[in-house]
Amino acid sequence: MSEQKNGKRVGKVYLVGAGPGDPGLITVRGKYLLERAEVVVYDYLASPKLLKHVPKDAELIYAGKKGGVKHTHTQEEINRMLVDWAECGKIVVRLKGGDPFIFGRGGEEVEVLAETGVDFEVVPGVTSATAAATYAGIPITHREYTASVAFLTGHEDPTKPGSNIDWAKLATGAGTLVVYMGIKNLPVIVKNLVVNGRDPKTPVAVVRWASTPEQRSVVGTLETIADIVRESGIKPPALIIVGEVVNLRNKIDWFEKRPLFGRRIVVTRTREQASELMVGLEENGANCLEYSTIKIEPMDFYDDLHEEFARLEEYHWILFTSLHGVKYFFEKLYARGLDTRSLKGPGIAAVGKSTADLLLEYGVRADLLPSVFTGEGLAEALLDQGVEGRNILIPRAEKAREILPETLRGAGAQVSVVPVYRNVAPEGKRMQLRDELEAGKVDMVTFTSSSTVRNFLAMINADDNSELKRLMHRVVIAAIGPITAKIVTDNGLKVDVQPEEYTIPGLVRAVVAHYRMSNVE
Ligand code: SAH
Repeated sequence: MSEQKNGKRVGKVYLVGAGPGDPGLITVRGKYLLERAEVVVYDYLASPKLLKHVPKDAELIYAGKKGGVKHTHTQEEINRMLVDWAECGKIVVRLKGGDPFIFGRGGEEVEVLAETGVDFEVVPGVTSATAAATYAGIPITHREYTASVAFLTGHEDPTKPGSNIDWAKLATGAGTLVVYMGIKNLPVIVKNLVVNGRDPKTPVAVVRWASTPEQRSVVGTLETIADIVRESGIKPPALIIVGEVVNLRNKIDWFEKRPLFGRRIVVTRTREQASELMVGLEENGANCLEYSTIKIEPMDFYDDLHEEFARLEEYHWILFTSLHGVKYFFEKLYARGLDTRSLKGPGIAAVGKSTADLLLEYGVRADLLPSVFTGEGLAEALLDQGVEGRNILIPRAEKAREILPETLRGAGAQVSVVPVYRNVAPEGKRMQLRDELEAGKVDMVTFTSSSTVRNFLAMINADDNSELKRLMHRVVIAAIGPITAKIVTDNGLKVDVQPEEYTIPGLVRAVVAHYRMSNVE
């Protein structure tokens, strides 16, 4: 992406629209550029979640610009910074909320670049006006209501002489009006529209943090909206949508109607596995708080596993009790120059459906799947097959429950347990989680294995059981299956949600069913 000029690397600035808030609403081009950025200068309104696309070694600079609050950098500093980095030969992404050229001072930034001769490109974004309307269930144009829409800034006091906005013409000149940055001046804006001939009964919506799980909307008329916004405590960033189309929200509001909308749910899983649960909950509108309580790390040495690879044909069964067990086993098998043909001797058992599915991805169909997806369930299924005198290999986590190997040994099997990965509880997020619980900001905590429960308890580090109960007293607890649930109850807490099928999709369904029921109540 960067070119050479006179033997020197030449940088470039990409002004990229981040979209309105939902990190899924960035353009494909915008994401492509983030993935290749060396420097990213981002704003308050650009979703911080987008920074996950940026290479780890890139320089991240927060430019601030929260309306009303002291700017972290002045506009001049930002302009200077972009020029300086580009002149150092860097690929710079200037990430701006919504669309860079709609009330974002993007025009001013590229003017400076053009004047200084820095190479640049501008990538448009989904502007918050269209996103707010869409996510509030308001089509900003509609054949039966309006054929025109105007975007304006409410930042200027409309009563001030020399305003850039011709309110007299705009008030009735466009069917739908969308006002950016207008919350502070809302009372004067609505008054001005009415004075200039707009019907006071015209419906108005105000949408805050559109397209994010924090979205909030209120609806009124030009007469009532200022009071409604003041009473409901709605603060910027928010948009004001004025026009008959606002009434359509009654019929087509969809985003805020999703079953988990507004629910703050803690997802306690490993980083990789968290995504499936998070996606499932977020698709239903939840605001997921991800606490990666467990970190999966490889073992320092794999000598034991390598020895087992050399004698796999001596085994009658290999038992896979977790996804990571499968993943590390095969990674190491391949790394030794072997492949699935080494597994043609022993029977293969998986503890549950997702483990079996992952095995199939590695080209191995599980011969045995218990009817209950737990260690006990698997032990029972094997006992039914008869395990006396059988050689059984269990590649698994370094620390795990001993019930499976113990039961099998008790029934006369020779069991080798080989650790192929370890679970580690990371430091850091502890205080944050506790603070959220203290502040009553958590609606639900989900547990997807016994170790997520143990790690969660370690993270919040309650002094004793009564403190734990106090912290958790209004929090709904969801556990994936009976073993996980038992660890929860052993610690004096109550499990409120448990799926019939002990899988992630099963858990998501149970959480949704729980809130559908409580929404009805
Ligand atoms: N370039 C941006 C606008 C920047 S001006 C865009 O195209 O969207 C900042 C104003 O945009 C805020 O004061 C607010 O009125 C609006 N805004 C930006 N993101 C918003 C969001 N997610 N929800 C509601 N309003 C938003």
